[in-house]
Amino acid sequence: MIRNEEIRTHVLRCLALFLFLTVAGTAALGDGETAPARDAKQPVDDAYTAKIKKYTTQPFFTSPLVDYLPASKTVPTPEAVLGDVAGAPGILPYAEDVYKYMRLLEKASPRVKVFSIGKTEEGREMIAVAVSSPENLKNLEANRAQLAKLADPRTIKLDDAEADRIVAQAVPVYYITGTIHSPETGAPTALMELAYRLAVDESPYIREIRDGMITLITPVVEVDGRDRMVDIYHWHLSHPKDFYPPLIYWGKYVAHDNNRDAMGVTLKLTENVLNTYVDQKAQVLHDLHESVPYLYDNTAGDGPFNAWVDPILTDEWEMIGWRNVSDMTKFGMPGVFTHGVFDTWSPGYLMFIAAMHNGISRLYETFGNGGADTLPRTLDADEYSRTWYRQNPPLPKVLWSQRDNNNYEQTGLLTSLHYFNENKRLFLKNFYLKAKRSVTKPGAEGPSAYVLPADDPRLGSQAELLRVLQKQAVEISRATAAFSVTLPAKKSAKPKKDAKDVKDTPPAPTTREFPAGSYIVRMDQPYSRIADALLDYQYWSPDDPQKTPYDDTGWTFGELFGVQVTRVVDSKVLDVAMEKVKEIRAPSGVSGESTIYAINNNAEPSLATLRYKLHDASIEAAEEPFESGGKKFSRGSFLIRNATRAQLNDAISNLGLQANPVSAMPSVKTHPVRAARIAFVHTWLSTQAEGWWRIALDNLGIPYDYISTQTISKASDLNAKYDVILFPPVGFFSGPTAIINGLPSAWGNPLPWKNTPETPNLVGKNDSTDDMRPGLGWEGVANLQNFVAKGGVLLTATDTSRFALSIGLADGVSVGNAQKMKIVGSVVGTRLVDGASPIAYGYDEKLSAYCDNGPIFSLSSVSGARSGRRLGAESRTRPTGRGTMDDPDFTIGRPGTEVPDEPKSEIWENPLLTDEQLHNNFRVIPPANRARVIFRYADSKDLLISGLVEGGDEIAQHPAVVDVPTGNGHVVLFSINPVYRGETRGTYSLVLNTILNFDSLNAGRKLAEK
Ligand SMILES: [Zn+2]
Repeated sequence: MIRNEEIRTHVLRCLALFLFLTVAGTAALGDGETAPARDAKQPVDDAYTAKIKKYTTQPFFTSPLVDYLPASKTVPTPEAVLGDVAGAPGILPYAEDVYKYMRLLEKASPRVKVFSIGKTEEGREMIAVAVSSPENLKNLEANRAQLAKLADPRTIKLDDAEADRIVAQAVPVYYITGTIHSPETGAPTALMELAYRLAVDESPYIREIRDGMITLITPVVEVDGRDRMVDIYHWHLSHPKDFYPPLIYWGKYVAHDNNRDAMGVTLKLTENVLNTYVDQKAQVLHDLHESVPYLYDNTAGDGPFNAWVDPILTDEWEMIGWRNVSDMTKFGMPGVFTHGVFDTWSPGYLMFIAAMHNGISRLYETFGNGGADTLPRTLDADEYSRTWYRQNPPLPKVLWSQRDNNNYEQTGLLTSLHYFNENKRLFLKNFYLKAKRSVTKPGAEGPSAYVLPADDPRLGSQAELLRVLQKQAVEISRATAAFSVTLPAKKSAKPKKDAKDVKDTPPAPTTREFPAGSYIVRMDQPYSRIADALLDYQYWSPDDPQKTPYDDTGWTFGELFGVQVTRVVDSKVLDVAMEKVKEIRAPSGVSGESTIYAINNNAEPSLATLRYKLHDASIEAAEEPFESGGKKFSRGSFLIRNATRAQLNDAISNLGLQANPVSAMPSVKTHPVRAARIAFVHTWLSTQAEGWWRIALDNLGIPYDYISTQTISKASDLNAKYDVILFPPVGFFSGPTAIINGLPSAWGNPLPWKNTPETPNLVGKNDSTDDMRPGLGWEGVANLQNFVAKGGVLLTATDTSRFALSIGLADGVSVGNAQKMKIVGSVVGTRLVDGASPIAYGYDEKLSAYCDNGPIFSLSSVSGARSGRRLGAESRTRPTGRGTMDDPDFTIGRPGTEVPDEPKSEIWENPLLTDEQLHNNFRVIPPANRARVIFRYADSKDLLISGLVEGGDEIAQHPAVVDVPTGNGHVVLFSINPVYRGETRGTYSLVLNTILNFDSLNAGRKLAEK
C-alpha cells in the first residue's frame, strides 16, 4: 500500500532525478535513490550563488549540492555575519562570529538548536549545533532516551527484539567537528553554510537528511587556537608584503597534538567533545582536517587497525568511505579518495572517541590554504599519482581557493549524511550490536575485568588513572570485601629440543588475592572497549608490512602510570561483592598527632604538590630507608616539621598520601626538600612537546616562570632567580643549531608574537616577543653554562639532551646515532641503577617509560673521548693464535704470557680506566665529576613493554636518566620523555625529584676509586 505522501515523494524524486541527470549527465542512481541535486522548485539566492561561482576556481571543484545557495525569506545566510559568502577570499571568522551566526540561525529557524558544551583552558566557549526537523528537535530528549537504550543494552536486558523496535524508530545523531587543527582554517565557514543548507533547503535530498537524522556540529573545536589563527591572518592581510608569524601556540598547551589526546583526555576540548558525543548518544564522530589534496577520507585507513575496535566498525569504515568516494567521483570532482597512508592503530585521535565508544569514527583531510587567500598550489608527484585507491587523483598544479575547500567539505558531508540516513537502520543496529558485544565481552574474547588493587603503593596515581577512565565514561566499581581470582598459567619459554630436564607438568594457574577496596573495571559494560584498549598491552611486530607507524605504537596506561593493573580472565571476578564508584578519592590523611610527620615516598607526583602547598613547613628527605612505629619508610620519605595536623590534613587531602606521626627524627641522614625556583624554558620553534610538561606542572600546582630561550640569552645571572631550569623537548626535529640560531633572521622581517589591537588573542597566558626569530644565541649558551657552573640544575630531555651534550654542557656523556633502531612511541623497560640518588626516590628496580627513538647515551671517564664501539659487538676476545678461547697464545722461543685482566664495566657504568689511560692524563674526569646513571634501559630481551621495538640492542642497557655533576651544579639528561600527553604519570617524579632535591643531588653517591 502506498500512501499519498509516498507517491508525492516518489514523483518529486523522479523529477529530481530527471533534473539531476540533465545537469550532471554522468551520474546513475540506484533504484529509489534521491538525486543529489537542487529541487527545481527550490528558490535560489542568486546573488550568493553568483559569488559561490565566482570564488570557485574550476567548474569541477564543486557539485550540484553546493553550487547554489537555497534562498529563505526568514533565515539569514552566512553573509549576515561574514559580509560575504562562506569561503570568500580574505574572510576568516573568529569563533565568536561563527557562534553569532549559529545563534542567528537558531533564532530564525525551528530546525536549529545551539548548545554550549563547555569552556576551553582560556575560558572560551565551545558549542554544538543541532540541525534537524522541528519534530526531531522537539523530541530530542525522548529520542536520546531511546538511543541510550541502544548505547547501553543492559537497560533492555540485551533484548534484540526490543533493540529492533528502537532501531526502527530512533533518529540517529551524526556529530561533525571542525578546526581542531588551527592552521586548517576552512571548516567553520563550511559548517556555517552547511547548517544553513540543512535548515532551509527543501530539495528532497536535503529534506531527507533533515527529517531522518540529527546533524550535530561543533564548528570550532580548538577555539583558543582559532582565535589566534584569525589574528595572524588579519596581521597578514594588513602586512601583505611581509612574512607572517607561524602559529607557535594553538591551544594554551599543545598544538597539533590536540588531536592525540583522546586516550589521556588531558585537554578541555577532548573532554567537551567526548562528553557531547557520549551524552548525545551519537553514532558518528566526523572530524574535519585540511592537509591533503583534495579530499582524503581516511575513514578507511591502512593497517594495522587498532586491535580493540569491533570488526563491525571496520566494515562500516569501508562501506562509508568507498561510497563517499564513489558519490563524489560521480560529481566529476577530482582527488577524492580513501584508504591512503594513515594507519588506524593508535586510539589517540579525537575522532577515535567514536571508535572506542561503539560508534563510527571518521576523518576528512581536505585541502586548505592555511588562511583565506586564493593561492597557486603545486603538488608533489606522490600527491597526484594514481594509485589503486586513488584512481581519480588531484591535479599537479591548480589555483585553489577557500571556497573550493568549502565545496569539497560540504559536498563530502552532505553525501555522507544522506548515505548514512538511507542506511540508518543498519547503522543504528550496528551501534547496538557493538555496544552489546562490549557488554558480552567477558564471555566472548575477554577479559572479564581489570583489577587495581587497594594495596597499590601509589594510590594517588591509581586514582588519576581511574579518573581518566571515568572521563572516558567507563564505570568503575570497588570490591566491598577481599576476593581472589585465578590467573592463567604464565607461558614458560619453549623447552629446548634436547633439554634433559623438561618438566612433565605444565606451569599451573595461580591464585591472586585482592584486598577489600580494590577497584574493578568490569568488562561487561558498554564502554569496556576503551578501558581494555588503554589498560591492555600493544604489540607491533617489526615484520608488520606497515613500516611507518602514523603515531605511537604502545601506551599501556598501567605501565605508564606506574600502577598495578591486573588483567583478569576468570569470570568469577564479576561475582565479587562490589559497588559502583561515583567519585574516585585517593585515601589521604594524617593518622595522629605529633610535631614530626613522615610520609613514605613511592614516587607519587603529589609529593611535589604537597611541598609547594606547605610553604612554611620544613621538609627533610631521608637519605636511607628507616622504620618508625612499625612502619617502613623508603629512601626519600618526607619528614615534615612546622606544620600543624590541621594544615597537613588540609594540604594532603585527596593527594593519595598518608602522613604518619613519628616521635623523633630517624637516625638516618636527611637533607632539606626545598620548593625550588623553576624556570621553564621554551623556544620559538615549537611549543608542543613542552606544552605537555606545562599542563602536568599546572595540574600538580607547581609554580614556574615560563621563559623563552631569548630571555635566557639576556639573563646573565640566572642563579639569582632560579634553582632549576627545565628545558623540555622542543620536538619537530629541532637540532642544536636551530635552538641556538632560531629562525633565519639574515633576511625577512621581524615576526612578532604580541597582543596588539589587531592581534588581541595571540598571547593568552603564554609568552610574547617582538620577534620570534632569534634563538638562544651564544650568549644564552654562555648563560646556561654559567648557571650550571654556579650551582644551578639544568634538566633536559630527548632533543634538548642532545643539545646540552652538543654544546659541551655535560662531560663524559656522548650521543650515538641509531643504525637500525626503531622505537616508535613505545613503552620500554628501564632498570634502576643508583637508588641512592634523590632522582630515584620512591622508585622500584623496574620502571616503564615512554620512548620515541630516544638518544643513545654512552659514558666515558675521559673528557672529550667517545667511548669506543658501544654500539654493536664489543671486541673483547683474545687475538688470533694457538689454543682455545681462554688459553694464552704463545710465541715460539719464549714462554707464553698471560694477558692481564682488563678492567671491565657494564654499558651503563663509567668505563674503568687502565694504568695506561690514567698516566698523566689531564682528560680523566675525576670520579666526583663523572656521570651518575640513575636509570638505564633494560636488557634487549626486556626492553619492549608495549608497542614497537626493533633493533633495541642499540639502546639496551644504555643510560636512560643521567645526572652529570658540572661545575657546582648538575645537568640531568633524559633519553626517555618522562612527561608526555598526560599518559606518563609514572615517570613524572623523575623530574619532580630533581626539582625538590636540586641542592642535594649528590646525596648517597658512591665514587669510583680512581
Ligand atoms: Zn589536521
